[in-house]
Parts: sequence; C-alpha cells; structure tokens
Amino acid sequence: MKKTFAVGIDFGATQIKIGMVNPEGKVLSRKVIATPRDISPLEFGKTAKREISHIISDSGKSGKCVGVGIGVPGLVQFDKGVVLYLVNVKGWKKVPLAALLSREVGLPVWVDNDVNAMTLGEFTYGAGRGGKNIVCLTLGTGVGGGIILNGEIYRGTSYAAGEIGHIVIQEQGRECACGGKGCLEAYIGNRQIMVLGKGRYGSPKEISDAARKGDLVAAAIWKEVGTHLGVALSSVINLLNPEKIVIGGGVANAGTFLFNEVHETVRKRAMKGPADSVKIVKAQLGEDAGIIGAAVLAGIK
Ligand SMILES: [Zn+2]
Repeated sequence: MKKTFAVGIDFGATQIKIGMVNPEGKVLSRKVIATPRDISPLEFGKTAKREISHIISDSGKSGKCVGVGIGVPGLVQFDKGVVLYLVNVKGWKKVPLAALLSREVGLPVWVDNDVNAMTLGEFTYGAGRGGKNIVCLTLGTGVGGGIILNGEIYRGTSYAAGEIGHIVIQEQGRECACGGKGCLEAYIGNRQIMVLGKGRYGSPKEISDAARKGDLVAAAIWKEVGTHLGVALSSVINLLNPEKIVIGGGVANAGTFLFNEVHETVRKRAMKGPADSVKIVKAQLGEDAGIIGAAVLAGIK
C-alpha cells in the first residue's frame, strides 16, 4: 500500500491547531494559533492557506501529501464540505469551506465536525483501534459525542448524530443551552462542575489534583459527575451496544475518580448484556486527537 501523509487542522473557538500527520498517525510538525475572535471564513481561508503551505514545505512530504482535513466546532454537511454553522464563532452560515480552500491549496479538502474528527482519530490510531462499534465522548465546556457503527462514522440524517451531551437525564431538569431541559451537558459541562466546587477550586484540573491529594469534597464532585455521565451512557449502551466508549477532553483527566463511578453506574443502570460487553476507556491521543482525526478524514493510511 502506498504510504500517504495529510495535513490535519483542528479549528477550535480558542485555538487553531495544524499539523502534518504520517501514515502511523503521528504528528510530524505542528503549529498552534490563537483563534481571532469571530474569525470570518475569508480570514480563516487566508490563514489556513498560508499555514498549510508552510507545514507542507517544512515537512518535505509535498509529493506524498494526499489532502487536508479540517475539524470545525459546528454542524457540517460532510459530503458537500459545507459548514452550516459554527458554535461560538459568529458569521459562519453555509460556507463551502472545502471547495474554497481546495481551490486555494490545490489539494482535496475534507471538512467535518470536530468531535467526528476526534472520533475518527481515536478509532484509527487511539483507544478505539481495532474496534467496529465505538462511541467517543469529549468532556469540556460542552459534552460532544461521535459514533462509529460497523467501522464507519455515523453522521445521521442531517449530520447531527452523536449529541450525547443532550441526552436527557432529568425529565423536568435544568434548562439547557439547546433549548431543552435536563440534558447531560447542563449537569457536567465545565461550568456546572465549577458550580459544584462552590468557589473552592479554580478549574476542573484543580478539582482532580485535590481529589488525588485526598480532598473528599473534590472526590465527591467527581462521584456526582460520574453518576450523571454513567446514567447517560447507560442509555447509549442500551441503544447502540458498543464494544468501547472512549472518553476524552480535559475532564477525563480526573481519571479513576470519574471512571470508577461511571463503571459502577453503568453496571447498575444499563442492561446486563450490553453492559458486560462494553469497555469504557480514556482517550489516548490527547491534544493531538483533532489534528490526527482531521488527517484521517483526508485519507492517510
Ligand atoms: Zn441540551
């Protein structure tokens, strides 16, 4: 098989990360840029074009680069490469990003939702490797999800599948940013985790560090978060019967404090068959998952 390389771009609301990825799924070189506030499609196109050509020429792999993949924080019409809208970045409505950028850089360009990209990265090179039915979660400001069914990403009828953060865990629960009530995200998003800390901690990471040092309040916070997450995942497990659930994002670094409670809750709440056959594991690609996954979109392998 011909060895190919690709450029992966992880377009986040705070950072744009770009890297050249080799066929083993390793990022050879990377550049991180702070995302200008409400960056316009035109501005993004210019920045991307410049950085893509730098990274390709620096890598010395220009002849072997098969294309560019981009993961974006929003809804994407994947087969057309059109960004329908972005969350937290204004002014992006039906932007034909793949076509625009492809014309500029002279390579095929693929665009997908960022969590789908991360899911593809973990599935191809990370914690989901070798599986067929995988669910990936990313825990941060929001709760994102991606689904691999029978070895392929499942995007849904209107490209919106995988919104695990909006699984309802309380029928008459808290209002959620999506307009619904009682969604998982309204209980375990970063902001809600900080509320549980009642001002005692500066970040979810501090809560994890404190729990590790024996702070019982911090441990109790992760127990509560783990219970909510376990309840939502029990529905995912009953619905999809996946072999693995991969959990990434900053909050996953709470480690056993979080995972033990998730395992315990799933054991109690999900149906026995699917609960026995699922493994719930931490993501492996860390900060690079978005870049690597975007490169998978572009066809490295
Ligand atoms: Zn919601």
